[in-house]
Amino acid sequence: MNSETLISINGVYRYYGNYCAVNNVSFTVERGEVLGFLGLNGAGKSTTMQIISGVLSASSGAVSIAGFDIMDAPRQAKSQLGFLPEQPPLYHDLTVDEYLDYAARLRGIRRTNIRTVIEKSKQRCGLETVGQRLINNLSKGYQQRVGIAQAILHAPAVIILDEPTNGLDPVQIKEIRELIKELGRDHSVILSTHILPEVQTICDRVLIIHEGQLVLDRQLENINEGKQNNIINIAFRQAPSLDTLNIIEGIKHIDQISDQQFRFELHPGSAAIDHIVRNSAASGWGLFEIIPETGSLEETFMRLTSGEKENL
Ligand code: ADP
Repeated sequence: MNSETLISINGVYRYYGNYCAVNNVSFTVERGEVLGFLGLNGAGKSTTMQIISGVLSASSGAVSIAGFDIMDAPRQAKSQLGFLPEQPPLYHDLTVDEYLDYAARLRGIRRTNIRTVIEKSKQRCGLETVGQRLINNLSKGYQQRVGIAQAILHAPAVIILDEPTNGLDPVQIKEIRELIKELGRDHSVILSTHILPEVQTICDRVLIIHEGQLVLDRQLENINEGKQNNIINIAFRQAPSLDTLNIIEGIKHIDQISDQQFRFELHPGSAAIDHIVRNSAASGWGLFEIIPETGSLEETFMRLTSGEKENL
């Protein structure tokens, strides 16, 4: 394993009865990465997050955190991990300080360190002035900050946030997103969400999950690359082999999507399209579709969650 890989998920399945909610999911997260885990409601995000966090067991497959297997070495694995579930585990009749003190003890943080750890966590989450307030009396945005503060108390290498901005108003959403971005400087973060702009503003990399399966794993800058129309989808009735297409000048990379469809990544400014069209006419490939990808995350998301599968 690469020394910078903090999370490794390998062939994970999760069944609820006969229903396969997570279907052969594999990916890794590197140190310092903010990964967006994007999918429609019901796609399998929470189930995957809970499996990574060790809250739920996988039906099969393996998860390791900082090299520790979540099943074989759960204590070590969880010591490297902070989790904010979709429903934050808050005690509404405690004050913020009381709750964080309780969470720190649960985490096994040494008594002599607890005060320092709580102060640091509160400061990072903008909670300095509300330590004495009852959690019940805080706004939802502040309650979410408390949830994040408990997740980072033990300075974990990895933070998992499941739909952290759900139910917040626009100002609170903005504040929580800024906080997550800030956390991304020192931790690896997985952010599960169904909100596209959230991923666009916060994340370095995006995974899209659809009906339990990963359909995209890509750096965000590569998605935006398509904006220069360097990514073109082309379909032929009598498609040539991939080898034949690969020798055409100006092509950086080709993914074969189906028997007839190909996704071409072109060198910027190249005349590759002209060459493809000319070759097709000369060799009878029957080119019938040529669609530049605008490459926005929204377009990619819409395309992939309507059933089509990108080559991973
Ligand atoms: P997401 O977080 O992307 O909205 P979930 O992981 O919560 O998706 O759910 C994935 C699928 O698994 C959904 O179809 C959901 O109905 C189903 N599911 C989730 N939890 C359970 C459960 N405890 N029992 C049965 N089905 C479940």
